[in-house]
Amino acid sequence: MLVYALPGTLETREADLDLLWEAGATGLEERGDQIRAYFDERLDLSGPLAGGEWLEEAEQDWQAAFKRDIRPVPAGRITIAPPWLADEVPAGQVPLIIEPGMAFGTGHHATTRLAVEALSALDLSGKTVLDVGTGSGVLAMAAAKLGAALAYGVDIDPQTIPVARENAAQNGLSAPQAQFDEGTLGQGQFTAPASHAVLAAQGYDVLVANLFAELHDLLAATYLEHLRPGGELILTGILEERLALVLAALEREGVQNVQVQQDGEWALVTGQK
Ligand code: SAM
Repeated sequence: MLVYALPGTLETREADLDLLWEAGATGLEERGDQIRAYFDERLDLSGPLAGGEWLEEAEQDWQAAFKRDIRPVPAGRITIAPPWLADEVPAGQVPLIIEPGMAFGTGHHATTRLAVEALSALDLSGKTVLDVGTGSGVLAMAAAKLGAALAYGVDIDPQTIPVARENAAQNGLSAPQAQFDEGTLGQGQFTAPASHAVLAAQGYDVLVANLFAELHDLLAATYLEHLRPGGELILTGILEERLALVLAALEREGVQNVQVQQDGEWALVTGQK
């Protein structure tokens, strides 16, 4: 059996997991401070996947190992769990079921947890939520499960949309409570579905985006165009060293009550229009 061992964990390298699957990995597991990707043949892995080590090992059931290592992730009032651990969601927590490995957003990354916690801290009953860069759909689904009447997830990567729709179906969520389309904001690229046309014009109650600092800086004004007055802005994907860029952008756009939460090197910023 061929193993490609990369330094890091499922959390710190969540963004690379897709690349491993795309390269042909037949399974992934975390062991100690390494990610182990199983392959049928030795490949030349470059870019973000460079720096690993090829190992020849005796056969083992990788699926069992992967399933053994993954745990439910609590974040505020939500616990995110893979389908086979749905029964382990503690009583009183709202379960959000996500099949790992299909798109970014399994809850194993600090930014996803910070965003779910920030959504959890709001009263979302009957509210409308726009999730920019939805990935697995996790944040839009969390909002819907927390009572939002309408959560709309868009992503620039078309491959994420069927994954988000499948995750929503698995959680018993359907449009308009949770709805997903390929899209982004800016340069006239955001075209809400007909059912959202009025909403898109008057603004959402909450806009959440787990992207990165430079993009938040570019999109700050556009975010506000899509929020109603008083609406809540939740931005993450921000490395601590780039936080000042985002804070300056929010000050420039006149965002009120700006607050920062941090988890290790990752930051989340909230504010109101
Ligand atoms: N929302 C999920 C979460 O919180 O775990 C996924 C966040 S993941 C870090 C960022 C996602 O944003 C990716 O799915 C990526 O394809 C998408 N994305 C990147 N740039 C984007 C843009 N300009 N507009 C919309 N989506 C974008």
